[in-house]
Amino acid sequence: MSLRIVLVDTNHPGNIGAVARAMKNMGLRELHLVRPQAFPSVEATSRASGADDVLNAAVVHHDLESAIAECGLIIGTSARKRHLPWELVEPRECAARAVQASLTGKVALVFGSERFGLTNEAVTRCNLLVTIPTHPDYSSLNIAMAVQVLAYEIWMLMRPGLPPPVEREVPLATGDDMVKFYAHLEQVLEEINFRDRTGGTQLMTRIRRLFNRAQVDQNEVNILRGILTAVQGKRRIAGSKSGDKTSTGSTEPTQGRPSRR
Ligand code: SAH
Repeated sequence: MSLRIVLVDTNHPGNIGAVARAMKNMGLRELHLVRPQAFPSVEATSRASGADDVLNAAVVHHDLESAIAECGLIIGTSARKRHLPWELVEPRECAARAVQASLTGKVALVFGSERFGLTNEAVTRCNLLVTIPTHPDYSSLNIAMAVQVLAYEIWMLMRPGLPPPVEREVPLATGDDMVKFYAHLEQVLEEINFRDRTGGTQLMTRIRRLFNRAQVDQNEVNILRGILTAVQGKRRIAGSKSGDKTSTGSTEPTQGRPSRR
């Protein structure tokens, strides 16, 4: 099982230590830090208590993309409702999905900064979001407490003595596979002149939400890439026969109008 905790832009080193401790209590060991403000730090080590092994093994990244590149399932955490609705689950369901996916691939649980939470850009990298239910007037937990709650639910499904869960046949596509797929798709949309008719800039975000929600596996992403390559091949043949009229933007693709949400 490979399940990593990813902390993005953490401000307080003490919180990083407390996260390491919460993880070790619940049997998690893979800590990834994206742009930590201060790390390593005496405060982090002191708050980690006996979990300095988890802390010492933490991997530091310059961006979120590299922290999740190998991960098949990427779960974002959010204390608040998002402007752009994303699939949202509660901690128990989150744990079930995480444990299931970790049988065949790597899983990331991503936490935002203490002050601002996850950016909208970071959310678009996630397959789904989890929110820990709280009193509606005060929804933001300390980051280490949030890790504790989610890690506890995971531990409840992996602790010794439970019947083994059923494995997926094919591992999920990784974050890196999806980056390549979206770049390919964007390129083909450009080539066939498919644009958001509302003039908005949300088209790729909506497309990401659709495919992230589907949780595409490695066979499926290969099929999608194959379709895109076939479209490009056909266009090249058609272009060489007819002088490539479509690239002039004279065609009207039959796309639907994306609804505003
Ligand atoms: N002010 C921020 C909250 C940051 S709390 C905001 O409005 O989004 C720091 C991090 O702890 C969050 O990014 C999230 O990863 C986690 N967290 C805090 N409360 C949470 C909750 N109720 N559910 C899920 N994650 C939570």
